[in-house]
Amino acid sequence: MKAISILGSTGSIGCNTLQVIDHLGDTRVVAMAAGRNVVKFAEQIAKYKPEVVSCDADCAEDLSRELHALRAAMPNIETGESGLIAVATHAEAETVVSATVGAVGFVPTLRAIEAGKRVALANKETLVMAGELMTAAAQNSGAEILPVDSEHNAIHQCLRGERHSEVKRLILTASGGPFREKTREQIASATREEALKHPSWTMGEKITIDSATLMNKGLEVIEAKWLFGFEADQISVVVHPQSVVHSMVEMVDGSIIAQMGVTDMKHAIQYALTYPDRRENCLAPLDLSKLSRLDFEEPDLDRFPCLSLAYSALKAGGTMPAVLNAANEIAVKAFLDGRIKLHEIAPLNAGVMQAHSAETVADLETVLRVDQWARNAAEKLIAVKANSAALAN
Ligand code: NDP
Repeated sequence: MKAISILGSTGSIGCNTLQVIDHLGDTRVVAMAAGRNVVKFAEQIAKYKPEVVSCDADCAEDLSRELHALRAAMPNIETGESGLIAVATHAEAETVVSATVGAVGFVPTLRAIEAGKRVALANKETLVMAGELMTAAAQNSGAEILPVDSEHNAIHQCLRGERHSEVKRLILTASGGPFREKTREQIASATREEALKHPSWTMGEKITIDSATLMNKGLEVIEAKWLFGFEADQISVVVHPQSVVHSMVEMVDGSIIAQMGVTDMKHAIQYALTYPDRRENCLAPLDLSKLSRLDFEEPDLDRFPCLSLAYSALKAGGTMPAVLNAANEIAVKAFLDGRIKLHEIAPLNAGVMQAHSAETVADLETVLRVDQWARNAAEKLIAVKANSAALAN
């Protein structure tokens, strides 16, 4: 039996991972972490019987009560960041699925890499924050980082057996999100509900909003640099509304290699868990005869400026991607809480980036300090905006 740990087991990727594990039949979950959804977490613990679990500090008592009610075997319950690290570094785990959302997964994922685990990485924000540290740690420990993000998973598949020097560029596909065909004015007045209605994927709230602004694609451009070692001008984005081609690689001779598949994250998750083996999965195959067309178009950077911000952050280098990531996390939360409008996310991110001079990512402390600075700066800009709106009324 293979042993696995999961960070973020109650989320969209976490639940899909457990379904893949059910299907594979030869993998056991030794540790798992969630945040606040103790009801779902307790059910998962009762079923998969991990030795170590972790949740938010103020949820531990509730979790314990839920487990008693289910008459489940009591695991070792840890909490907070140290709990996430305990799950990420469980001695028996060969693979760690990193599927928390945002910066909270950063240190635990780094610790898993330092411990030499295979990391099946969904939590892209961690690589955006400090790709230098993550990749250096992987080189030192021999850890493998296998992408779960469907685009990077596709590129990983396209690059199998290819020489780095013969690759011209990576082409990340983007569905375009719910506002692909909307005007600037319609995007400006978009509601929370409209922004959370993704046309092709069912995902957690943060990534769904990032998909609506194309920030998600921007974060993926930065993620691709660190996963595959290409510079910003070798990573391009094409909008492909059908989400059937998950991404492509153009070779120097003009050949374009594409990976296609059904729109279901279980495909990429299973690939990351079983690599280098390929095994049958639990999904219905892609029926090519039912595809009437595949469209590809340029992303509109005027309506979706977050994508340009990501390229700027990548080109500025150093701590700038971490600043963009932190500002964006605050901005997305503010949008979800009704404090700002969707079209205000990009200027907010840009404002925080403008106030920062990129530093070298020297160590973990630098990243954490800059991350906190950017969060504070973003909150201040939101407060200034709220005050000026109050004065105008
Ligand atoms: P969800 O919001 O569905 O799940 C997030 C998970 O993280 C939940 O288990 C949540 O726990 C946990 N979590 C949140 N905050 C904390 C915290 N402070 N401490 C511990 N655990 C916490 O997100 P997704 O599954 O959609 O996305 C996860 C990551 O994968 C993101 O980085 C996303 O960008 C990436 N990704 C997702 C894809 C998708 O299809 N969903 C596709 C590609 C990448 P709880 O709910 O119990 O509070």
